[in-house]
Amino acid sequence: MTKKIQRFLAENRPQTPCLVVDLDVVADNYRKLKTAVPQALIYYAIKANPAPEILKLLVGVGSSFDTASLNEIDMVLAAGGSADKISYGNTIKKKSDIAAAHARGVRLFAFDSQAELDKIAEAAPGGRVFCRILTSGVGADWPLSRKFGCEVEMARDLLIEAAKRGVVPHGVSFHVGSQMKDPEAWDSAVAQAAWIFKECETAGVTLNMLNIGGGFPTRYRRDIPTMGTYGEAIDAALKRHFGNRVPEIIVEPGRQMVGDAGIIQTEVVLISRKGRNDPRRWVYLDIGKFGGLAETLDEAIQYPISTPRRGKVERVILAGPTCDSADVIYEKADYRLPLDLEVGDRLEIRATGAYTTTYASVAFNGFEPLKTYCI
Ligand SMILES: *Cc1c(COP(=O)(O)O)cnc(C)c1O
Repeated sequence: MTKKIQRFLAENRPQTPCLVVDLDVVADNYRKLKTAVPQALIYYAIKANPAPEILKLLVGVGSSFDTASLNEIDMVLAAGGSADKISYGNTIKKKSDIAAAHARGVRLFAFDSQAELDKIAEAAPGGRVFCRILTSGVGADWPLSRKFGCEVEMARDLLIEAAKRGVVPHGVSFHVGSQMKDPEAWDSAVAQAAWIFKECETAGVTLNMLNIGGGFPTRYRRDIPTMGTYGEAIDAALKRHFGNRVPEIIVEPGRQMVGDAGIIQTEVVLISRKGRNDPRRWVYLDIGKFGGLAETLDEAIQYPISTPRRGKVERVILAGPTCDSADVIYEKADYRLPLDLEVGDRLEIRATGAYTTTYASVAFNGFEPLKTYCI
């Protein structure tokens, strides 16, 4: 936890649960990414955390933005971002939303199917389009495979067709999967993209952009490779497959930009056992799967949790406060908390700056959405 967050929590004692984001860490993460992949334009995937303060900071340092809906586009515009730095990167869009984005000046659109290309051609004439290809998601803790992207042959055919449909075939995109722990994961996707570039060239269609997605990790309970390691692996993959004709590169970081910038403070609501001799304590917090910890689904993302208490520790099952039995946070994963932990204690769930506020439900069981303080 940064000193700034520590001081804020001590001085303000905000109501829990809440997320506190240190904007200095976001600025630092932006710099780290820029240093690691200097050849790339950075499009922040705003679904990770669209707090206006974060968007304003990123507008200020020159970032571009990856958006998935008209509302996200409007959030970027409201933060002072310009339409020419926005990518409408969702491959699943209503035609009316494409038209509205086009009317706002957005000119960059993703697709991964014939029907989506048809919509863009009709609703955003003259727009630049890029086709997303499938990836395996192997090595990612939160894979984005199957649902998004198409096979390379289809991507080639659709990009060649795009040229005849009044839109500009701009390039290829992929996402290796979120919280990708293997820096080599980009290689095969870059190779596939290079194949598409060559095939299109042969057909007289020149592509200019390769969007290598997000996937860069945040440190949770285990160490991760440095951003420098990712940068080197990606640079090597680009040179290997594109030689001296590397196109314009786009990266779309979400988690890497904000994950370790935020901390959720939560309160222990109940500590109980299910029988006199039950060895496992249940610790119920005032936040759970529906309050912003959706990525604990299948215990996929395992946040570090800390308490100021220093007593002997023991395995616990952690659960949220709602009346839904799916609202168990960690049961299989090895989480230990001190035996002297008490109801009313405050805990810190660390590295929770990404994918928490946006996943919080509006009023399930009457609980409020997760509040954010950007400092
Ligand atoms: C969610 C998303 C991202 C960000 O992914 P991270 O793993 O958080 O970096 C980037 N691009 C697209 C298209 C996305 O949907």
